[in-house]
Amino acid sequence: MKCPYCGKCSTNVVDTRESSERIRRRRECSDCDRRFTTYETVEKYDIQVTKRSGDIMEFDEEKIRDGIEKAAEKTPLEEDDIESTVEDVKRQVMDRKEVTTEEIGELVKQELKRRNEVAYIRFASVYDSFENAESFQEEVEALQEK
Ligand SMILES: [Zn+2]
Repeated sequence: MKCPYCGKCSTNVVDTRESSERIRRRRECSDCDRRFTTYETVEKYDIQVTKRSGDIMEFDEEKIRDGIEKAAEKTPLEEDDIESTVEDVKRQVMDRKEVTTEEIGELVKQELKRRNEVAYIRFASVYDSFENAESFQEEVEALQEK
C-alpha cells in the first residue's frame, strides 16, 4: 500500500475495524509518519466458469489460491508471490463473461512458470494428471473426508 503523502510503500496497519460489508484500516507510513485510511470490500465477480463436464460454477478465487499454495510449498515463493500470481490470473479473466477451468489452469501454469520452475512443474503435473484443477480439488476434498 503506497503512502498518499510521500509515495513510499512501507506502511503499517495501526488499527483495523470490521463491519459486515467492509474493513477499515488505519495505516501509518513508516517513512513520513503520516496516517491514512484504507477500506477493503468484497469483490464481486460476474464470471461463469465452465467445467470440462459442461457444468457451470462461480468463479472461486480461493480455489485458485489453494492450488497455487500447494504448488508453492517448500519453494522460495512467499505469500506476496502467491498473491501476485492470483492477481495476475484474475486480471486476465476479470473482463470475461465466461472462462473454462482449462483456461484458468493454463493461466496459472504460465504465471507460475515465470516465477518458479518447481512450483510450475508441481502444479502442471498435478493439474495434468487430474485433467483439471477442479477435479483435483474434488479429489483433495474426498481424501480429507475419509
Ligand atoms: Zn509517507
